[in-house]
Amino acid sequence: MHTVYLGLGSNQSEPIKQIKNAIELIQKIETSKIIKKSSLYKSLPVGYLDQPDFINQVISIQTSLSPADLLERFQQIEFQLKRVKKIINGPRTIDIDILLFNQEIILTDDLTIPHSRMLERAFVMIPLMEIEPNILIPKISNLKEILGKLDKKTLTKIDGQSV
Ligand code: ADP
Ligand code: MG
Repeated sequence: MHTVYLGLGSNQSEPIKQIKNAIELIQKIETSKIIKKSSLYKSLPVGYLDQPDFINQVISIQTSLSPADLLERFQQIEFQLKRVKKIINGPRTIDIDILLFNQEIILTDDLTIPHSRMLERAFVMIPLMEIEPNILIPKISNLKEILGKLDKKTLTKIDGQSV
């Protein structure tokens, strides 16, 4: 079995509901099981600023699927939830990113794992640390320093809301 961490994000069409729907569909993927779920967080958009705030969550799963098979399943889910992609870093109904796949480094045309921008994103790293305070990330020895550099002002934990 592989241990995989996923970053979920949405800022369209009732984002909390979108995340909930995505989790329900992820739960149904064969040979895969959700192990942990972070709180929900609200984050300010990055890059393209003129759009609603995002809701983010990090979850861990165990699966026997390969990274490529997982990516395909997640793209099907994104499609099913009618993700429409128009602008880079722009609004989306749902985004499912593979953050970590065991301790593997995977570089293919379709996949970069660990996810290439995860270390600089508070909306990924803070929920990730919430569910896995002792997380190991390939090639990263000083995680504390990385966490210290995050812009935490852009992120608020949503209390009393869980999916
Ligand atoms: P982002 O999530 O970076 O804002 P997109 O979701 O629009 O952007 O990017 C989709 C593309 O990113 C997919 O076609 C996929 O092949 C590629 N990709 C590369 N690495 C990953 C990863 N670790 N997880 C998910 N998609 C990835
Ligand atoms: Mg993505």
